[in-house]
Amino acid sequence: MKGVKEEIERVLISAEEIAQRVRALGEKISRDYGKGGVARDPYRRPLLVVGILKGAMPFLADLIRVIDLPLEYDLMSVSSYRNGTSPGEVRILKDLDRSIAQRDILIVEDIVDTGTTLDHILRLIQARSPASIRICTLIDKPARREVQVPMHYVGFTLPEDVFVVGYGLDYAELYRNLPFIGVLKREIYEEEGIADR
Ligand code: 5GP
Repeated sequence: MKGVKEEIERVLISAEEIAQRVRALGEKISRDYGKGGVARDPYRRPLLVVGILKGAMPFLADLIRVIDLPLEYDLMSVSSYRNGTSPGEVRILKDLDRSIAQRDILIVEDIVDTGTTLDHILRLIQARSPASIRICTLIDKPARREVQVPMHYVGFTLPEDVFVVGYGLDYAELYRNLPFIGVLKREIYEEEGIADR
């Protein structure tokens, strides 16, 4: 039987590189949100990490386990209306469970491309009066940025405009379970035109 890894043309970021970088991000976040840092009172009002489904799930799971602070996490899912449907709109598919007023929020995203999705999430969260908001993304793809969004913690910056899969990132809902980040073989998505972006 053919394994899913055989559909990958090249590995861009190995599982080991991801683990190393996630650990470094966790250490930085722990320092920044510790006593006297970004959070008002990190021990009595813990950091609230907001993971954006579905792509950020593996990253979120690894990241929270290397943050050495009390924290809560919650999940949010939005649809981002790409591919022709009215741009600049997002619909909430799953909202946060509780109020975030006066909380210190760390948004955890998988990838920021044009910035549209994150910009909308930011507005939604901002409108709920949190004490602070910071953004952590596994991958930043600045090449196609249309909306400027603040970026506080970035795992990896991809200088070229490539479509990547793995470690939570999908193509047609597949490949999220790959332990590394890579590029699919051209024949997999040739018909969809993504290879030409
Ligand atoms: P943006 O709104 O920043 O343009 O797009 C963000 C969303 O587009 C991401 O959450 C992700 O779902 C999708 N996306 C953008 N670039 C890539 C990519 O290289 N690979 C995958 N799998 N998804 C991407």
